[in-house]
Amino acid sequence: MQINRNFLDLKDSYLFATVGRKTAEYKKAHPEKDVIRLSIGDVTRPLAPAVVEAMHRAVDEMSRRETFKGYGPDQTCYGYEALLSSIAGSYARKGVTLDFGEIFISDGAKSDCGNILDLFSSENVVLLPDPVYPAYADANVMAGRKIIYADANEANGFLPMPNERVKADIIYICSPNNPTGAAYTREQLKVWVDYAKAQDAVLLYDAAYEYFVTDSSLARSIYEVEGAKDCAIEICSYSKTAGFTGVRCGYTIVPKALVRGGESLNRLWARRQSTKFNGVSYVTQIGAAAVFSAEGERQISENIAYYRENAKIIGDTLDRLGIWYTGGKNSPYIWLKCPSGMSSWEFFDYLLENANVVGTPGSGFGKNGEGFFRLTAFGTEENTREACRRISELLQK
Ligand code: PLP
Repeated sequence: MQINRNFLDLKDSYLFATVGRKTAEYKKAHPEKDVIRLSIGDVTRPLAPAVVEAMHRAVDEMSRRETFKGYGPDQTCYGYEALLSSIAGSYARKGVTLDFGEIFISDGAKSDCGNILDLFSSENVVLLPDPVYPAYADANVMAGRKIIYADANEANGFLPMPNERVKADIIYICSPNNPTGAAYTREQLKVWVDYAKAQDAVLLYDAAYEYFVTDSSLARSIYEVEGAKDCAIEICSYSKTAGFTGVRCGYTIVPKALVRGGESLNRLWARRQSTKFNGVSYVTQIGAAAVFSAEGERQISENIAYYRENAKIIGDTLDRLGIWYTGGKNSPYIWLKCPSGMSSWEFFDYLLENANVVGTPGSGFGKNGEGFFRLTAFGTEENTREACRRISELLQK
């Protein structure tokens, strides 16, 4: 037998391991120091009460013979109507009409960012931004696909635009972006949609952070852009929207209008899911359905407002220090230019040793991340304020 040797082409992911190791070593050497982590990409606020109540009710239903549920409904790839209808309702509020058959419930965005590739030949060329969320690159390396990069940098505000002379078949866009926090306007996304159509390519649009968008010029869904249903698949998550990182639920939209190679990608995806997936638990789906209820939306908005305030505290600090950054306004991520020409890892060490604050070196997300640094708004307000006070004190000197 032969193993999939493409795995041997994967780069070892040293980034978070090295951040963890360096932080642990520093804490061991300086146990008296209070180290604050502004590197966390996980949420810290608990589930909204409306979600918890819905999940309790669903558990009770599972405990009674009359209301017990086994496998989910197979005609909708195991999505329960309550959840499909709440997702369709949330799209309708963005002006997007979806058929229930276009909504596929998943266990989160990360899995589908990779799983969706089952639909495409490994001969296809993939276009990723650099810097990038590493899972997109790794999933394509595993499949042996050729990857090309669109340069995101200070000059384009970390929002690269397509180059018509470059041929690509599969294009990943994440907006608001991890790691850079930068977010495309509707007009910019229209250019990507037109490019994808001209290339007969498919856009894979990761909307994991759409709930952080406040500016009305920015899209929360690629389908707010005219023509996107012919070329884009949208991958969404309850993780950052509603604190579901440990619960696990998301949804992927594959429009019925999306046809490539004469085949409906919606039909192929339904076929793929019914073969390789058996759905998300009933309890989880009922909890997720409560997220977009009136009460649920009000409650999750409070949590998001909390993170947004943290992002503002960080952004205001950098503004006062005159440090260039993207993100923070429509995103929980702040992507800053390391001061005094430091490299990403030099700044990491400098901040850890002198302010006892941990962030994530940008170079870990791609070559264009060198000289940049990611801070996140997912900590507590108290820690965020204290970290910013220390950063100000250190960098003002
Ligand atoms: N997509 C992006 C851009 C992310 O940053 C993350 C998590 O950090 C995910 C997807 C993963 O989402 P999920 O928890 O739904 O798998």
